[in-house]
Amino acid sequence: MQKVVVLGTGPAGLTAAIYLARANMEPLVIEGPEPGGQLTTTTDVENFPGFPDGIMGPDLMDNMRKQAERFGAKFMRGWVQKVDLSKRPFKLILSKEEIETEALVLSTGATAKLLGIPGEKENIGQGVSTCATCDGFFFRGKKILVVGGGDSAMEEATFLTKFASEVTIVHRREELRASKIMQDRARDNEKISWSLNRTPLEVVRGDNGVQGLKVKNNETGEEELLEADGIFVAIGHQPNTSFLEGQVTTDDLGYISVQPGTTKTNIPGVFACGDVQDHTYRQAITAAGTGCMAALDCERFLEGSASDDWSQTLSEQK
Ligand code: NAP
Repeated sequence: MQKVVVLGTGPAGLTAAIYLARANMEPLVIEGPEPGGQLTTTTDVENFPGFPDGIMGPDLMDNMRKQAERFGAKFMRGWVQKVDLSKRPFKLILSKEEIETEALVLSTGATAKLLGIPGEKENIGQGVSTCATCDGFFFRGKKILVVGGGDSAMEEATFLTKFASEVTIVHRREELRASKIMQDRARDNEKISWSLNRTPLEVVRGDNGVQGLKVKNNETGEEELLEADGIFVAIGHQPNTSFLEGQVTTDDLGYISVQPGTTKTNIPGVFACGDVQDHTYRQAITAAGTGCMAALDCERFLEGSASDDWSQTLSEQK
């Protein structure tokens, strides 16, 4: 029986673990298949406060893990297949064991959707990115492609014009999925050009890094190489919540709903932090911030001081 289990080891989960461990809550932290989360697939992190010279993503996550361990957080590798949150203690079902816990912090993150084409995955952090805020700065004065036709692609492309000499939006259809206001903003931007009706086929690498994106022109059926120094894939994110099987309330996009200003879900004793409940900011620092909130909310819950306002939470959500 555990007092509290933290699921996920990105900045949200590890920050929650640091705070819970320091509060003597002896958290058990379950690491999934990508320990450290999305930051382990980036290189330099230049916008996490406290590191004036930047820090490598994997090093930052390693430091956070060591910090949590220093205060007594226990770690285990595992893949939670199912949960039973119908009553406390909650049950977590892994491939070879079951864990019971009084409280649960969900910090399983979100996964950027990828195109699934050759050359894409192996060049992430080496010219292919899924985060303009994280990596745009590395492409100053360079030529960039943004793949996607939704609001994310419009937003990323517009943001990237701050750095890039030229941004081309590559979309597989003629019509965009993005809202009119976001489309208009992108269309009004002189640095943005369009390559519509093009299906991405392959990320092509040259001697000096990414050379461009091979696409199929859907009008002519011919293959073309769109040359660029960087490729931003902006086709959406998937919050990692499938194992919850609908037991925790989510919004239309599948992100866990929390009571505004807290990390409380619809289930007393279950808290959510980081990208699994945030499709707006999606930054390491905001994830870490909500991880801290989850630990404090959880601590109050376990100490019995949060029960009253939980009923308020539930009635507010109804
Ligand atoms: P989205 O609306 O689902 O759009 C994804 C885009 O990627 C679509 O245009 C889709 O093409 C394309 N795509 C998907 N899979 C592809 C593949 N395998 N190959 C090529 N193209 C592919 O996702 P999103 O843009 O991330 O937006 C998600 C939600 O967040 C939306 O509700 C959006 O409004 C919201 N959002 C809002 C803002 C904002 O208001 N500031 C910013 C970002 C996101 P098809 O169109 O052909 O399917």
